[in-house]
Amino acid sequence: MRDVNRRRALVTGGAGFLGSHLCERLLAEGHDVLCVDNYYTGTRENLKSMLGSPRFEILRHDVTFPLYVEVDEIYNLACPASPVHYQFDPVQTTKTSVHGAINMLGLAKRVRARILQASTSEVYGDPDVHPQPESYWGRVNPIGIRACYDEGKRCAETLFFDYYRQHRLPIKVARIFNTYGPRMHPGDGRVVSNFIVKALQGEPLEVYGEGSQTRSFCYVDDMVSALMLFMAGDDGFPGPLNLGNPGEFTILELAEQVIERSGSRSKIVFAPLPADDPRQRQPDIALAREKLGWQPTTPLAEGLDRTIEYFDGLLGRDARA
Ligand code: NAD
Ligand code: UDP
Ligand code: UDP
Repeated sequence: MRDVNRRRALVTGGAGFLGSHLCERLLAEGHDVLCVDNYYTGTRENLKSMLGSPRFEILRHDVTFPLYVEVDEIYNLACPASPVHYQFDPVQTTKTSVHGAINMLGLAKRVRARILQASTSEVYGDPDVHPQPESYWGRVNPIGIRACYDEGKRCAETLFFDYYRQHRLPIKVARIFNTYGPRMHPGDGRVVSNFIVKALQGEPLEVYGEGSQTRSFCYVDDMVSALMLFMAGDDGFPGPLNLGNPGEFTILELAEQVIERSGSRSKIVFAPLPADDPRQRQPDIALAREKLGWQPTTPLAEGLDRTIEYFDGLLGRDARA
């Protein structure tokens, strides 16, 4: 007989950065975990620590195709998250967000599972309200190079709320702000991993534009805690809910911190700013504090140290200049 406290969780995008940490925590809490991934940006390497667990299953599958399994809750994380990767095949990115959401919502509806969507701060686009509260509708260029991701995620939010209203599906929409930590792919292309890899290799850190644009960086363990708390909360609160660390830094400040904390002799160089790059981003997390009693506890310096240590091990100490 199944233990009523033991849930069967499906994590789509489970072989990715965030997904693999989430699978690990769900297993540690005693749940059964089904990881579904097409390995577009994720790797089997990320799942290594879990392979021995009899409660862990992996399925190679693309969420743009229907999926028939029996689960109690679904974390829908499948989607490339780094601009470099989501812009590589933008049509597939939109399909992943939109068809993926339809299939996972259809699955949730059939088995009456709770379903959480990994949405994003990108739904706010290049925001003219700062910091961004959930009530802000955003400022997204619908035809720009980030639109495949931003509009795909916005459409997924629409689908989630329509299944909530039309089918009374228990949904949770989390708007995740920039999250970093060990197990980001060294070729991921996002700023924290790019800077750390370059610093450890003694190569120049490329700051796009003047580096005056800001981001707020959340350590992965804090984010995973928030996602699980949100999923466990009551059905009456679907979100959307901002999750992130409100500490706000310019990209230039981040580059300087990475160089300092890794003890690198790398220089900073400047490169052109990509189109539609948001100028500022900081989550207003008042709602998460109120609804989940949650706030991040890992300061940037500490999270960077842990991430630098991870990449140092991964790249080999010889790579250090
Ligand atoms: P990631 O690229 O490491 O992980 C995404 C995973 O989804 C990968 O394992 C990839 O192979 C898989 N995937 C992609 N397309 C798929 C498809 N069609 N079918 C099945 N699997 C597919 O990125 P991440 O940082 O772990 O992000 C996870 C989720 O969180 C994404 O949905 C992302 O949009 C969201 N998010 C992340 C951040 C962040 O800063 N890390 C911020 C906002 C939102
Ligand atoms: N779906 C799925 N797994 C399921 C149930 C549905 O992948 O267990 C897919 C199915 O292919 C469908 C989509 O989810 O296209 C939406 O399902 P829903 O029942 O909401 O709509 P309909 O089947 O009426 O289009
Ligand atoms: N960025 C940078 N150098 C890099 C990678 C990114 O200066 O090597 C900048 C990028 O232009 C953006 C910020 O860092 O302003 C965050 O980029 P990332 O791709 O991590 O995520 P975003 O929040 O833009 O989706």
